[in-house]
Amino acid sequence: MKVWGQGVGAAVAVGILGAALGACLVPVAAHAAAFDPVAATQAYLDTVAADARAKSNAYFEGGYWLQLWRFLVSLAVAAVFLAGGVARRLRDGLGRLGRFDTPLFVVAYTVIDYLLSLPFVVYADWYREKRYGLMNQTLGDWFGDQLIQLAISSLFGGLLIWALYAIVRRLGRRWWIWATAFSVAALAVIVVVTPVFLAPLFNKYEAMKPGPVREALLSMARSNEVPATDVYEFNASRQSNKISANVSGLFGTTRISLTDTLLQRCTLAEIKAVMGHEMGHYVLHHVFVLLAYLSILMFVAFLLVDGAFGRLTRGGRWGITGLGDVAGLPLVMVLFTAYFFLMTPVLNTIIRTQEAEADAFGLNLAREPDGFATVALKLAEYRKLAPGKWEEVVFYDHPSGYNRILRAMRWKAETPMESQAAEPKP
Ligand SMILES: [Zn+2]
Repeated sequence: MKVWGQGVGAAVAVGILGAALGACLVPVAAHAAAFDPVAATQAYLDTVAADARAKSNAYFEGGYWLQLWRFLVSLAVAAVFLAGGVARRLRDGLGRLGRFDTPLFVVAYTVIDYLLSLPFVVYADWYREKRYGLMNQTLGDWFGDQLIQLAISSLFGGLLIWALYAIVRRLGRRWWIWATAFSVAALAVIVVVTPVFLAPLFNKYEAMKPGPVREALLSMARSNEVPATDVYEFNASRQSNKISANVSGLFGTTRISLTDTLLQRCTLAEIKAVMGHEMGHYVLHHVFVLLAYLSILMFVAFLLVDGAFGRLTRGGRWGITGLGDVAGLPLVMVLFTAYFFLMTPVLNTIIRTQEAEADAFGLNLAREPDGFATVALKLAEYRKLAPGKWEEVVFYDHPSGYNRILRAMRWKAETPMESQAAEPKP
């Protein structure tokens, strides 16, 4: 699954797209009598122009360093709040306002934190995307979306953290057990409300119009008991030309959505390959599995905060009086950030494993190994195609293009021709 609102813009004409569209023609090695999956995979990779490969590698590898920089920026911002005395002064100032001082502190902290990080965020998430031809929005449009996100995180963050402070202050030593349970429940609520209330703030969602594509997708859904009576299309081209689809929501709000870019840029075989993958997430209950993993990670995070916070603030350092003191929030946040930064390979591996499962499911459902391969090449516009083994383990939240195509070619080799779908027309 892919998170809504993520990622942004690609220029249609960039070289790699031309190469990817060219690759809709099934390469010769993919037809050979004695079918060799490795050779067929290589044949697909060879259809991508060298300059397009170099560009996508540079974009993705630069992203590794950005993760480190993002972390260092958050450390610097925390230093301003703690050592710079901003958190202490803010707490003392808001303390005079009475019982809403905690949620007000959270909102003020969220906004100041955002403003201090803004130069970096503009560079990393707008300027750099634009430079790589992956951004369709003007700076003003992009910033408008940022303000909506900031409002949402202030509101949700204010309520969530207010509740967590109430837990810490009332429940004492065993607070981290209740904090974990509460956080996972809150996360589930966010997953439920996102497709219905939050995603439409950024993009227009419409039920797909009747036609052969919609019919093919609903037929796939019916054959696997995915209770979807509608498929949603949204105008992701507003932000970028990246192709994407997702399963979002939980319980009654679960839905399958695909981007207008996917419909415009892909053949029916490719669309079926992508949607087979998305239905896999649904059938395999990946949202629930992910929530279960996250609850374990959060539990450890809260335990870590419980252990480290007292040591770091001993003697009233930075004017913090204890874990229940909201002036310590920047420290709590930085401990969380450091923990999840170090956990990046673990979290990526959990998600990548689900993605690989959805790939396998999607191949069996859509029976379009070549459509799957060509769409994997299109995704390589913004994801390095063939990383090293450990590079993939540490940095990839989806399988690499190479491994996805190899999986499709193995499936093709092992599946009798008569039970495969027709190959995509050039
Ligand atoms: Zn997925």
